[in-house]
Amino acid sequence: MKLNRPSPLIQMTMALVALCSTLVILGTLFLDTMPDRGAQQRAVRKAVGEALAVQLAETLRREDPREIEKSLVAIVSRTEGLRSVGVRRADNELVVATPTHAQGWRSGEGDRSRPEQLTVPLAANGERWGRVEMAFAADDTHWLLAFFKEPLVQMLLFLGVAGWLVFGLYMRRALQHLDPASVVPERVQGAFDAMAEGVVVLDSRGRVMLSNKAFRQLHPQLAEVPTGSSLTALPWLSQSLPQDAAQHPWARAMAERSANAGTALEAGQGAEKRQLVLNAAPISDAGGAVRGCMVTVNDMSALHHANEALREAMTALAGSKREVEQKNLELERLATRDPLTGALNRRAFHAAFEGVWREALKSGGGLTCLMVDIDHFKNINDSHGHGVGDRVIQEVARKLQDSVRGTDLLCRWGGEEFCVVVGGLDTAASAEFAERVRMRIERECGAALREVQGLRVTASVGVELLSPQAHSMAALIERADQALYRAKRAGRNRVAMPDDALQARVAVPASQIDADSGCLNESGYFAALRSAREAARADDRVLGCIVAGLDHHRVLLQRHGAAALQAASVTLARWARESAPASAAVARLDERRVAVLLPGTGLEDCQALAEHLRDRVEASLAAVIDGAAARSVRISVGVDALPATAPGAATLGERAEQAMNRMRRSGGNGVMLFSGGRAANDAAAREDSQP
Ligand code: GH3
Ligand code: MG
Ligand code: MG
Repeated sequence: MKLNRPSPLIQMTMALVALCSTLVILGTLFLDTMPDRGAQQRAVRKAVGEALAVQLAETLRREDPREIEKSLVAIVSRTEGLRSVGVRRADNELVVATPTHAQGWRSGEGDRSRPEQLTVPLAANGERWGRVEMAFAADDTHWLLAFFKEPLVQMLLFLGVAGWLVFGLYMRRALQHLDPASVVPERVQGAFDAMAEGVVVLDSRGRVMLSNKAFRQLHPQLAEVPTGSSLTALPWLSQSLPQDAAQHPWARAMAERSANAGTALEAGQGAEKRQLVLNAAPISDAGGAVRGCMVTVNDMSALHHANEALREAMTALAGSKREVEQKNLELERLATRDPLTGALNRRAFHAAFEGVWREALKSGGGLTCLMVDIDHFKNINDSHGHGVGDRVIQEVARKLQDSVRGTDLLCRWGGEEFCVVVGGLDTAASAEFAERVRMRIERECGAALREVQGLRVTASVGVELLSPQAHSMAALIERADQALYRAKRAGRNRVAMPDDALQARVAVPASQIDADSGCLNESGYFAALRSAREAARADDRVLGCIVAGLDHHRVLLQRHGAAALQAASVTLARWARESAPASAAVARLDERRVAVLLPGTGLEDCQALAEHLRDRVEASLAAVIDGAAARSVRISVGVDALPATAPGAATLGERAEQAMNRMRRSGGNGVMLFSGGRAANDAAAREDSQP
C-alpha cells in the first residue's frame, strides 16, 4: 500500500513536538531538572524516622511502654505507607512495637535500611542503646505503571499530546498568515500578472494561495482577498456558485483529478454584474497527491454586452422590418385597392389581368369577363343620399367578392360599375355564374341596408368569354361592356351573354360547303363575304378577314404526295373553324388556302387571331401527317379589316390575300397586315395566288 506523504502542516507539527521532547530529555539529563520520586520518598521516610527516634529516646525513659505503644499505633494510622513501628534494644529485644510489627519485620539484616524497612539508631547517654524500626508498605506497582508514573515519561506524554494540539493549531494559523506570494520570485509574479486572464491558485481546501492582477481587478472585493481565505467567502462570487461546495468548479476538478473547463457564471448584480467563464485544473505533487487547484477566470462581460447589443439591434431591426413590411402592405393596398370597396383599382387590375390572361392562354382553361353595373343607381343617390349610395356600392362589391375565388379578379371599374374576371368556366357555366351573381345582388344587397326600408338594388351583367373574337384583354372587356349595354337596353336586372346574332347573318347554303373540311368552299366564301359586308354596313361594324396559305405547297406535293397536301390543307381549315368564333365564316378556298371572315373584328384583333392560328396549326399538322412532312409545312397569313363605310366586299378578300402573298415573298412563315392602299400587287402576286 502506498502511503501519501503527510501534509506540510502535520510534518511541521511532528517536528516541533519531537524537538521539544528532545530538549526536555536533554534538560533532564544535564540539568537534573526532573524530581526523583523514590529519593524524595526515602528522604521523607528518613526524616519521619529520625524525628520519631528523637521523640522515643525521650519518652522511653519516662513513660509506660503501654502508653508508648498507643502513641505508635496512632502514628502508624496517620502516616501514609507506614505499616508498623517497633523499638528494639541493642540485644535485639523488642521493647515496644505496634501489634503487627513482630510478624512483618524481617530481621537479620542489621541496621541497614531498605525502601520498605527503615532503622534509625537510638542513643542514650551518648551510647548506642537500640534502634527504631519502621516498616513501610512495599511498592507493588507494576513496572509499566511505575514507568508511566515517571515524571519524565509523563512530561513527554504531555508534550506529545498537548504539543501536538497546540503546535498543530498554531502552525495552521501561522500558515494561513504566511503569504506564499512572498516566496514567489518577482519575475514569476510579474509574468503571472502580465496574463490577461485572471488566475488564482487554491490549496486543497479551496483557500487562496496566490492570485494575479487580472483576477484581483475583476472586482474590488477580489483586490482585498487575503491569502488563506476561501474564494466562497466573497459574496460577489459566492452568490453565483452552487450551494453544494462539492460542486464548485475547483472542488470538482480536485475530486475528479481532471481539469474542467468552461464553467459559465454570472457574478454580482446590476452594474457589478460580470459574465465569467472558469477553468479549473488540479495541481498534484510529485507523489500524485492533489495539493491544490489552478483556476483561470475569463471576464466575458464585454463580449456578452456586445452580443446583447447585437441581439437587441437584431430584434429592433426585425421589428422595423416588420413595420416596413406592414407599411409596404398598407401602401400597396392604398396603391392597388379602391378605398370604398377594397376591390382592385383599374391600374392594379390591368397588372393582375396580364398574368391571368397569360395563364388562361397557356392552359386553355377559359376566361370569363363580367361587367356588372347597378341599375338606376342615380335614383338611389337622389332618393337616399350619397351615404346610402356608397353603402349600396360596398354591399354589391361584398357580394361580388364573396362570389369569386382567390385567383379571380374583382375591379371597381368606375362609379357603380364592376369588372369581374373568372377563370375555368365554359359558356354555360359562365351564364350560370353571372345569373347567380345577379340574383344574389337583387336578393341580398337592398336587404343588407336595414336603415332604408324596402330598398331595391339590382344590377345588369354583361358577359364575354375568351374567344378568337375576344382574343385580347381589351377586346374581352370591350365585348363584355357591349353585352352589359345590351342587358341595359333589354330592360336591366338581367344577364347578357356574348352576341351570337351575327352568326345567323353570315350563314350560307349547305351547297357551298367543302365536303372534306366541312367549311365553306370558294363560292360559299364569296357569298359569305358579300353578305357579311352588308351586315357590317347595316350594323355599322367593322369586318375582318384572314387568308392563310401553306408555304411551298408544291414541294410538299412532290416530296410527300397529294395525300399529304390534302391532309395539311384540310387540317388548316378545320383548325381555323375550331378556333374561330361562332360568328366567323371559315372557307377552304383550295388545296392551299383558307379564309376566315370575322364580323365585328378590327384589324388588331384579326392579327392576334391570325398569329394564334399560325402558331397552333403546326402542332395540329404534326398529328395528322407524317412528321418529316409536317416539319416542312409553313404557313403565311395575310390580314385585313375594313370599316363599315369602306366600299366593296371583294376588296377586303383581295387585300388580305395580297398581304399573305407579300408574306410568302418575304420568306413566309409569318403574319402580315395589308398596309394601306398600295396595291403593289402585281401580276406576280396574282400568278402566285393560283393554285
Ligand atoms: P343605369 O341603370 O343606366 O346604370 O343608371 P344609373 O343611374 O345607374 O347610371 P348613371 O351612369 O346615370 O349614374 C351613375 C351615378 O352614380 C352617377 C354618379 O353620381 C353616381 N356615382 C358614381 N360614383 C359614386 C360613388 O362613389 N358614390 C355614390 N354615392 N355615387 C356615385
Ligand atoms: Mg348604373
Ligand atoms: Mg354606370
